Amino acid sequence: MAQIDLIKVEKKFGDLHAVKPMDLTIHNGEFVVLLGPSGCGKTTTLRMIAGLETVTGGSIQINGQDITNKPARERDIAMVFQFFALYPHMTVRENIAFPLQAQGETRSVIDQRVSEVVRMLQIEPYLKLRPGSLSGGDQQRVALARALVRRPAAFLMDEPLGALDADFRESMRAEIKRLHLVNNATSVYVTHDQIEAMAMGDRIVVMSNATVQQVGTPIDVYNNPSNMFVARFIGSPGMNLVTGEHHAGTLTLPGGSQYAVPLKWRTALEGRSKVVLGFRPEALLLDENGQVSAKVYGDDLHGSFTMLHLALNGESEVIHGRAERGVASKIGAQVSFTLDPEMVRFFDPESETAIALEVRHG
Ligand code: ATP
Repeated sequence: MAQIDLIKVEKKFGDLHAVKPMDLTIHNGEFVVLLGPSGCGKTTTLRMIAGLETVTGGSIQINGQDITNKPARERDIAMVFQFFALYPHMTVRENIAFPLQAQGETRSVIDQRVSEVVRMLQIEPYLKLRPGSLSGGDQQRVALARALVRRPAAFLMDEPLGALDADFRESMRAEIKRLHLVNNATSVYVTHDQIEAMAMGDRIVVMSNATVQQVGTPIDVYNNPSNMFVARFIGSPGMNLVTGEHHAGTLTLPGGSQYAVPLKWRTALEGRSKVVLGFRPEALLLDENGQVSAKVYGDDLHGSFTMLHLALNGESEVIHGRAERGVASKIGAQVSFTLDPEMVRFFDPESETAIALEVRHG
């Protein structure tokens, strides 16, 4: 059991700022996902928590104790990497038992813990085999078993599913989540895959350019991105972002459609001449009397729904809208739509940050 506090933690490699001062509390038993594109500083953050990387500023606490300068082996933390890092000359059982042997546990404790963890991960049939003869998914199960067997206070995972193919990824994702619920160990999980982050995290820390962009529950980050980077990065496709000219509650969009700003947003947008309108594909509602018109640019059938690609302005400004399956759309056809007023968001085009909804009091 562990609460992990990062207090203004930062990392510089020479002149390169890999992680800018970062504050984050990871609560006891929480599953936190560090999410962001390649090179944004996720792995470095995880390695600083593990003690595999020194910090160049700030401090790290576990359960209120400063561990900033403690070596990795004294941190009671287990780490699972993308690449299995199993010992090829040992059997699966020996691999899993290894950390307990290194800690000097008795044989009966080792037997009991190993059998518990192999049952949980359903790898009993492989105990006598060597890792090289297993599939990628099963090797990663063994690596998880070896990390879990120590019952660490915290569990750090760096893209543990990155090397697996799509089918395995999905089943392992569910498995890791289930293991977390059973063990309730504080977990920090690094991925660049936003679908994985949404599916697994109690909270997501979105990072870009060495900086935390937003921390929140998956649904909050999805519904209320704090800036345009998060809006684009989360969701597939990401949030539609369209710059419009604003005047007195009406937004003129590229292509000339006049969009009436929902009433509750009018105060927040007062005095702004340019704003970015943001909406998720599912906020777009086809409606022949809708205020916004566009031209069908293409569509993808997804089985249970159709993703329409619509051009607002001739062939440019393509946005995405989710429609029912079977919606007939001919490329080049003109369509109209409205937006669910509860699902629209606005951003400042200069700072790219979300405009807050001003709540009227009284
Ligand atoms: P990825 O998903 O590609 O691993 P990431 O978000 O985990 O990306 P980091 O690996 O933390 O990013 O790297 C952050 C930045 O720090 C990158 O620019 C990287 O090149 C740099 N970096 C990481 N480790 C070192 C190192 N040991 N020496 C110098 N620069 C490094």
